[in-house]
Amino acid sequence: MDEMLPPDPARLRVILAHLDKQMADHETIGTYLRLQRDAVQAAITNAEIRRKPPAAQPPQQGLRRMKLKPGTYMLEPKIQPDHPRPAYVHVGGCSAIERPASECTIRQAELSLTQQAVGAQACPTCRPDMTLGIDVA
Ligand SMILES: [Zn+2]
Repeated sequence: MDEMLPPDPARLRVILAHLDKQMADHETIGTYLRLQRDAVQAAITNAEIRRKPPAAQPPQQGLRRMKLKPGTYMLEPKIQPDHPRPAYVHVGGCSAIERPASECTIRQAELSLTQQAVGAQACPTCRPDMTLGIDVA
């Protein structure tokens, strides 16, 4: 591999920066696709629920307590691409998750909150942007 590379550090740094950017772009696309995939999965689940007769209600267990799991993050996708409720990033264990969400890495949570292409927002209840140290204002 290094026989193909230029010998000088200046050009090597340019190549390195290019590869880093490529990796970040691909990660963004991967996160975006994952959110899209989760939205489709949620739509399938919703469609299947609508076809079933209503199940008996489980007994009420009083107020559900929020038990956050610091260091874990969840991606809650949009129901449909044009649905007004945005995709949300949550801290694991957040009780404000309304749709089927999937666990994601810290890096994916950061990318979801910082990349316009993904368009996810920080959940106002569990504030993952605070725990990630991201300024999303
Ligand atoms: Zn939340």
